[in-house]
Amino acid sequence: MAPIRLIILGATGSIGQNARAVLEEHRDKIQVEGLVARSRFEAVHDFALAFDARWVGLTDPAAADRLRQFAPDRPYRLITGMEEVVETIHESSATTVLAAMSGFSGLRPTLAALERGMTVLLANKETLVAAGDLVKGVAAAHAAPLVPVDSEHSAIFQCLGLDQPVRRIILTCSGGPFRGMTREQLRHVTVEQALAHPNWRMGPKITVDSATLMNKGLEIIEAHHLFNTPFDQIDVVVHPESVIHSLVEFVDGATLAQLGWPDMRVPIQVALSWPDRWPLSGAPLSLTDRPLTFMPPDEEAFPALRLARQAGIAGGLYPAVLNAANEEAVAAFLARDIAFLDISRVVEHTLSVFSDTRPATTLEDILATDRWARQTAAAWIHERARTP
Ligand code: NDP
Ligand code: MG
Repeated sequence: MAPIRLIILGATGSIGQNARAVLEEHRDKIQVEGLVARSRFEAVHDFALAFDARWVGLTDPAAADRLRQFAPDRPYRLITGMEEVVETIHESSATTVLAAMSGFSGLRPTLAALERGMTVLLANKETLVAAGDLVKGVAAAHAAPLVPVDSEHSAIFQCLGLDQPVRRIILTCSGGPFRGMTREQLRHVTVEQALAHPNWRMGPKITVDSATLMNKGLEIIEAHHLFNTPFDQIDVVVHPESVIHSLVEFVDGATLAQLGWPDMRVPIQVALSWPDRWPLSGAPLSLTDRPLTFMPPDEEAFPALRLARQAGIAGGLYPAVLNAANEEAVAAFLARDIAFLDISRVVEHTLSVFSDTRPATTLEDILATDRWARQTAAAWIHERARTP
């Protein structure tokens, strides 16, 4: 088999570093072509040296300057700024891109990879939430495969296997650090508590999304796009142990699940090796050392799930509004400008004043809507921050 020539968008993040651990075990199968980060230049430099990367992209120009000083004799090409990164992907001969930048900023380089016909291994769910129809249209036009990396969607992808008729997809959800709490109890939770996820070590944005359950809401929309599943056939069940990564119920009632320890190396490697499977180190799954439990999500205490589902059903540009408002709200919460419960209030307010029913089929419309939603959310946040 010819080696995979890989670009990693978000090489220094949690997914990027889990990918690095997978690459350690499969140096013979994968060549690193390019690594992209925003500003963590020492980490990306270290990664590039370890895997002989041909180029490194830093979207923050100040960080690129620091890398020039830090490593004047670097053996790779240094690309500076998002425009140059997008251009470099457009001209690249890589076969595969792992899209693992956080947030909406992953959209343009992901589109560039799809336009080039590359296989895109998608961790960056915000891209699909905000621009699902556009992303799928570009992927189809260029026969570019889109392979899920998000653990739930990887589980569904693996269960679907053959193209058989599905009755329902069931996404599992750990419930996050605040599972079981009432709205009253959630009023005073802190940033530190929100960042202490019980099962997964992830970047701050997705960790807060896991605490509000917006992560699961985004994943409902992600599943809708990836598997062409209507929203009324996507359910969520809380499963605190994070051992069953999701389930598919077929029309005859037979239900398949994918199990494993919570370890993102597995879905990353499945996406790289599919339809083959490669060996991977790690402790074997034990089914006898803990019970597996399930319960319905509490949409009263965690309204983000309902908001995301409603935005998904409304379709068009609504999911882009949901995503942008949520990104602004999470950043404001992490900056301690608003309280935890305000996050879903920002999202609900921003959705409630949006009334554009056009489809989300052009990049211009999606970018303009994203900007509008951020400004609208920021104005609400500003008001809130001034209210004692
Ligand atoms: P992290 O915050 O840990 O990492 C984000 C990465 O993206 C970093 O490499 C960061 O660079 C880079 N980045 C962010 N903004 C930009 C930008 N404007 N230009 C270039 N690079 C940028 O996030 P995660 O790894 O946790 O998550 C990445 C994506 O994967 C998210 O969309 C998340 O929802 C999804 N995901 C993550 C999972 C996980 O287990 N972590 C599970 C499932 C999905 P720098 O370090 O320089 O800032
Ligand atoms: Mg997930």
